[in-house]
Amino acid sequence: MNEPGRIKREKDTIYVMMRMYCRDKHNTEEGLCGSCNRLYEYSIQRIDKCTYGLDKPACEVCPVHCFKKDAKEQIKVVMRYAGPRMTFQHPWMAVMHIYDKLVFKIRRPQKKIKTIKIT
Ligand code: SF4
Ligand SMILES: [Zn+2]
Repeated sequence: MNEPGRIKREKDTIYVMMRMYCRDKHNTEEGLCGSCNRLYEYSIQRIDKCTYGLDKPACEVCPVHCFKKDAKEQIKVVMRYAGPRMTFQHPWMAVMHIYDKLVFKIRRPQKKIKTIKIT
């Protein structure tokens, strides 16, 4: 299955933000440390299993938010740190992320979500 550019962009953005956080907070010279890598892999796994499928919104604006509690808290910390820095370090990615969030607000997915399994 071909992944839409929007979803690939979201995954890339998550990596870049996590890399920024890991570099500054955990002093990693490249890649991600063990715990950041686990959080990153978990995020990607949630996106790949997203109940909205290819119609998914950006996780940040998702009304469901399927992440388990501790991962949700950890990702919030990363986003809070890296979000404002994205504007300066990766302006194009930041603009596209805002664009993707706006598109979701205008065109919400049609699929009604009744139950969701949080793993
Ligand atoms: S349900 Fe929401 S939070 Fe979970 S992967 Fe899909 S868009 Fe992201
Ligand atoms: Zn780290």
